[in-house]
Amino acid sequence: MVTHAECVADMLERGVDFVIPAPRAHWVGQGFLVHGYISRDPELARKLSPFLLLDYQAPFVYPPTQHRRGVGAHPHRGFETVTLAFEGSIAHHDSTGAGGVIGPGDVQWMTAGRGILHREYHERAFARAGGRLHMAQVWINLPAAKKMCEPRYQLLEAGSIGHAILPDDAGTVRVVAGEYAGVRGAAHTATPVGMLEVRLRLGGRFQLEIEATHDLTLLVMEGAVASGERVFARGDFVVFDHGGPMIALESRAPSTHLLVLSGEPIDEPLLQDGPFAMNTEREIRRAYADYRAGAFGILAP
Ligand code: MN
Repeated sequence: MVTHAECVADMLERGVDFVIPAPRAHWVGQGFLVHGYISRDPELARKLSPFLLLDYQAPFVYPPTQHRRGVGAHPHRGFETVTLAFEGSIAHHDSTGAGGVIGPGDVQWMTAGRGILHREYHERAFARAGGRLHMAQVWINLPAAKKMCEPRYQLLEAGSIGHAILPDDAGTVRVVAGEYAGVRGAAHTATPVGMLEVRLRLGGRFQLEIEATHDLTLLVMEGAVASGERVFARGDFVVFDHGGPMIALESRAPSTHLLVLSGEPIDEPLLQDGPFAMNTEREIRRAYADYRAGAFGILAP
């Protein structure tokens, strides 16, 4: 039998560049109490290309309400918003006419491209009953050539997202995007992006091989995980260096739940202003002008 240490010795393992403990949660609209890991630090967004934002709603119980709970109509241009529901139910409507409701295990992959208006809120029956919401939203940059593409909406239902079972019954890996152990991701991505949801039992091991140039991060959503000598706890956002082609992790809790993000950096000038992510100042001004002129369409109330 090959031990963990021997496996790792075969390949150089990436080290940890730095760790961000959960920042103080803030409200997005009146519906989402999130830890914002990337968006408030432009330097970090450059380091974690193509990712522009990770807003994480840790499990939180919302009381019942008769009101629409969430974020009203707002625009996006130049990137993609990906929403993962772990618990609870979230609805979305946009100006292309697309919309839908996502629940546990479902993912909504929305390509804003040249522009959409949308609103995001708790699904009505869920809002009325109240309950636990656990979700994350990731913003993924688009390269210049695709920033003004047609908007697209991919509803990835739980059943359409394949998973790999780890050796030794260590746990499971759901492949939202990219590829893992021969399982291809459900999402069509604009550039190479990996998005994995990993669940490990106590002592369960997970290894990931990664392109040398790709950026790699993980968020510990539940439990704890070790990388080499270091152990990361719930809420930690771990940014790996580019020192090797793989990482090897081991769960240090009865139930560990991770979101692992990786991707090919988009090596272009980036200007992010509120809901727009473009390459130049001029394009940002254009986005605001187009928005004011109604070019993003209309969204029925
Ligand atoms: Mn939005």
